Amino acid sequence: MMSLPAISELTPEVAPERVPFADLTGMHAPLAGELDAVWAQTLATSSFIGGPLVDAFEASWASYCGRKHAIGVANGTDAIALALKAFGVGPGDEVLVPAHTFIASAEGIVMAGATPIFVDVNEQTLLVDVALLEAAVTDRTVAVLVVHLYGHMPDMDAIAAFAERAGIAVFEDASQAHGATWKGRPAGSFGAAATFSFYPGKNLGAFGDGGAVVLDDDDATARLRSLAFHGRAVEDRYLHPLLGINSRLDALQAGILSIKLKHLDDWTAARSRVADRYLRTLTELAPEVAAAVVRPLESCGSAWHLFVVRVAHREGVREQLGAAGIESGIHYPVPCHRQGAFENEDTAALPVSEHAGATVLSLPMFPHLTDEQVDRVAAALVSAVRR
Ligand SMILES: *Cc1c(COP(=O)(O)O)cnc(C)c1O
Repeated sequence: MMSLPAISELTPEVAPERVPFADLTGMHAPLAGELDAVWAQTLATSSFIGGPLVDAFEASWASYCGRKHAIGVANGTDAIALALKAFGVGPGDEVLVPAHTFIASAEGIVMAGATPIFVDVNEQTLLVDVALLEAAVTDRTVAVLVVHLYGHMPDMDAIAAFAERAGIAVFEDASQAHGATWKGRPAGSFGAAATFSFYPGKNLGAFGDGGAVVLDDDDATARLRSLAFHGRAVEDRYLHPLLGINSRLDALQAGILSIKLKHLDDWTAARSRVADRYLRTLTELAPEVAAAVVRPLESCGSAWHLFVVRVAHREGVREQLGAAGIESGIHYPVPCHRQGAFENEDTAALPVSEHAGATVLSLPMFPHLTDEQVDRVAAALVSAVRR
C-alpha cells in the first residue's frame, strides 16, 4: 500500500522574510485540538451529511447574521443561484449586478436561469452605486445582487430606498463580508436573502468548499432546502415536486465552521488593525498612495477581506514587491462584462469597472500579519510606486 507523504513534504518552505498574501495556518494552529475533535466525532457517529453538526452551525450562523434561517449549501455560487430561485427569480428576469466582482456573482444569476445586467461601480468605493443602478432598471428587472466586495458594504439605506422605488428585491452576495456591518447591522441581514461562501480563503473558511444562504422568509426557506436537496418533498423523501440540485454543506465542514465562528470577531478586529496600520503608515510615507486605497464608507464596519490600493503601472509595482519577497494579488483584472463567458451579452463600456480592473492591487491581508510585516509592505509599495 502506498503511504501518505509526510506532512513536512507537503508544507511549502516559506522563507522567514517573505510576506505571504494570506496565511491560514496562524488561524488554525491554535485550534488544532478542537478541530481534531470534529473528525473524531464524525468517525464515531458516521453522521456525514446533515445531522447535529450542520444543524448547530446553521443555527449559530443565522443568529450571527441576525436572521431567522441559515441553510448550509455546497459553495457560495450555488448559494446565489438557490437564493434567487427560492424567491422565484428565473428565466426572463433581469438581475442587476456590479461588473467589478468575482465572476461567481454573475454565474449564480445565470444558474438560476435569469439574466445578469452588468452595472458600473462607484469610482470611490468600487461598489454598486444607486444612480448607476437606477439607470439600468427595465420592466424585466426583478432584483439587484449587491456585492460587498473586499468586505466593504455600499450605502444599504440608499439601496433599500432605490429597491423600494423600483419595486425590486435586494439580495446580498456577502461572500467577502462575514462580520461586516452597516450602521452596526450585520452584512447578510439586509434584503430578501444573503449568500456566503466558506471557501478556505474567505474570512470564515471551511477545510474545503462550503456556503450558506441566510433569510427570514419561511416559505422561501422551505423551497430552498428542497431545491438544494434534489427538490425532494418534506413529507415524503421519495417525491420530488421541484427540479433541484445536490448542494449541501458537509457535517465535517459545519463542525469546523462552528469552531472557527467563535473567533471570527477577533479575526475581523485583527484585520481592521492591520488595515489601520497600513493606512497610518502609508499616510506618513506617501499621502498620495494612502489616498489611492479603496476605503469603506464611514457607516461601514468593513470585514477587510482584502486591502486594495489602486496603482498605475501595476505590473512593475508587483514585480518590485515580488523582488522584496512580498506577495500580492489582483481582484479582479477583467470585469465580468469583458469575460469570454459573457461575450454574447450586451457589453457596453463600463469605464469605472474597466479602469478598476487595470489598477487594483491587493496587498497581504490576514489577521496574524505583524506590524513589522505591514510596515515592510507599505515601505516597499511606496518605493515601487515612486520609482
Ligand atoms: C468567493 C466568492 C463567491 C463564490 O464562492 P464559492 O464558494 O467559491 O462558489 C461569490 N461571490 C464573491 C464575491 C466571492 O468572493
